[in-house]
Amino acid sequence: MKTSIFKGSLVLFCVFFSMGLLAENPSSRVHLGVLAWRDAPSLQQGWQTTLQALEEQLPEYHLKVHWLDLQELEQAIAGQELDFVLTNPGHYVDLSSRYLLAPLASLQNPSVDPPQQAIGSVVVALSSRGELNDWQDLRGQRLAAVSPDAFGGFQLVQDALEQADFPWQEELASLQFSGFPMEQLLGWLDAGRVDAVVLRSCLLESLAEAGAVELSAYRVVAEQKQADYPCLHSSRLYPDWPFLRLGSTNPELARQVTLALLSSYPQKGEVDGYQWTAPLSYQPVYELFERLRLGPFADFPKNPVLAFVQQHRYWLLAALLLVLAVFGHDLRAGYLIRKKTQELKAAEITARQKQQEMIHLSRFALMGELTAGLAHELNQPLTAIINYARGSERYLQQPGAQQLPQAQQLQKAMGKIVRQAEQAAATIKNLRSFLRKESPEWQELEPLTLMEEALEFMEAHFRQEAVTVIRDYSSDLPRIRGNPVQLLQILINLLANAVDAMHDNSSAERRLQVGCQLLEGYLEFQVADCGEGLSTEALNHLFTPFFTTKEQGMGLGLKLSLSLATAHQGQLTLENQPQGGVLARLRLPLYTFAAKMRHKPSQ
Ligand code: ADP
Repeated sequence: MKTSIFKGSLVLFCVFFSMGLLAENPSSRVHLGVLAWRDAPSLQQGWQTTLQALEEQLPEYHLKVHWLDLQELEQAIAGQELDFVLTNPGHYVDLSSRYLLAPLASLQNPSVDPPQQAIGSVVVALSSRGELNDWQDLRGQRLAAVSPDAFGGFQLVQDALEQADFPWQEELASLQFSGFPMEQLLGWLDAGRVDAVVLRSCLLESLAEAGAVELSAYRVVAEQKQADYPCLHSSRLYPDWPFLRLGSTNPELARQVTLALLSSYPQKGEVDGYQWTAPLSYQPVYELFERLRLGPFADFPKNPVLAFVQQHRYWLLAALLLVLAVFGHDLRAGYLIRKKTQELKAAEITARQKQQEMIHLSRFALMGELTAGLAHELNQPLTAIINYARGSERYLQQPGAQQLPQAQQLQKAMGKIVRQAEQAAATIKNLRSFLRKESPEWQELEPLTLMEEALEFMEAHFRQEAVTVIRDYSSDLPRIRGNPVQLLQILINLLANAVDAMHDNSSAERRLQVGCQLLEGYLEFQVADCGEGLSTEALNHLFTPFFTTKEQGMGLGLKLSLSLATAHQGQLTLENQPQGGVLARLRLPLYTFAAKMRHKPSQ
């Protein structure tokens, strides 16, 4: 061992000496930058064969070796101070993204097969720490390595930890970096400063071979088994160091250097026994760096989608706003269309209702004309009936006629015929003036006389339908003002409807209650029956012309009654009673008269 160190130093001394002599011819100088990852003497010893081969094969050149650390090496490349570079695969991959570099040859350990698997990392703990077997066992432990960017050191272990899903940033108690030389990490471990250390694979073995350490004193964490690989390791294995030329290097010189490298063989008894082979693919290293987002992949985001979003956030925001605007516009358009459609439907319904009303109105007008004609036609026969009945009444009053059987009843009947016909004639007259829009004749009226007249008019009908009439009149009722015939028409219509409503009732349940009350500010006529009541449809269409639920009905009675009530500034309402049947109310306003007429309610 000592001999080879001495030999190495001698050779290098010769190299430096001869280069110094030729310093006056800089063009024949060859600058080789070598990554110094161990202390200089052991480095020189490691590259002894290579440097010697270059020296011998390129006699016309003077080789100058620069032992540089990672940063210095890069600075020298950037400053175009070097022709060739000898560095680890990780550093090469990192540099290759910034400088023109090409591997001329790759280092090959003859004891490693295939040569693609030459460099690895090993995590070592003291053999007494039997519990540290796997990556997960590093939880809560103190780990040390040379530096975060040492290829055969922490980078490979970081990849292994991440591949094993071990969140090392959070789980490790500490991660410390010692810097070169790597051997000092074992000192840290022995001193109990850390629990485990990261070494370049094969370093432990070469130290043990040199007698510097005892292999049995250490144990390997997460040991990987790889046939034909002679060293303990915890990480995957990667191709060994490349010998690189720069883009600016003289091609002829590069060719000669390549030849020299490939034709060099380790000397007998040399420790490492390395030799150079045709350049290997460093793709696995590129893949490793891609996984770790290192070197050329440092700017690649860990989460590309998130990074894309982050990078293009303003455009994405704008696009999102645009989509939202389009969506919003779409929603608004949909809403407006729906609204317009609803409006159109509503307008269509209104138009249909208007059309219906027009039809009704025209039917109403036609009816008006027919009624006017009919009233005119009926006027004469009614006058004739009245005249004949009066004549008969007068005849029956004469003494001779009194002898006739039932002369008195006949006389009474004649009187009734006269009154009924007169009422009919008056109604027709009113109808005609109503249709001709003549102003009605108004007068002061006794409300109960009016009600009684209506009841008398309906008397025969009540008898026929076996309806019992119950009267409920207040005393001291004031007089009202109005057209007697029109008001009678309203009351008669209400009475007739009440009788119709009780048609299907048993005779015991055909009670008709009529009333006349003085309420605050108005006088109210009431007609209540115990009929079937008003259906919802009837309630909604009570005053709609031609609405009827009766086979023989015209559906005009209530409409006309409402018009007449309104003409008297009154109100007409119909409602269902809680106990059944309908209560119709006709309310008329009160007037101030010179003197109030008292009226005794009839029983
Ligand atoms: P008509 O009697 O010719 O049907 P009206 O205008 O007088 O016309 O009445 C309209 C409708 O109102 C009737 O067909 C009936 O359905 C309902 N109606 C009116 N009065 C009553 C009542 N007292 N009880 C039940 N339904 C009634």
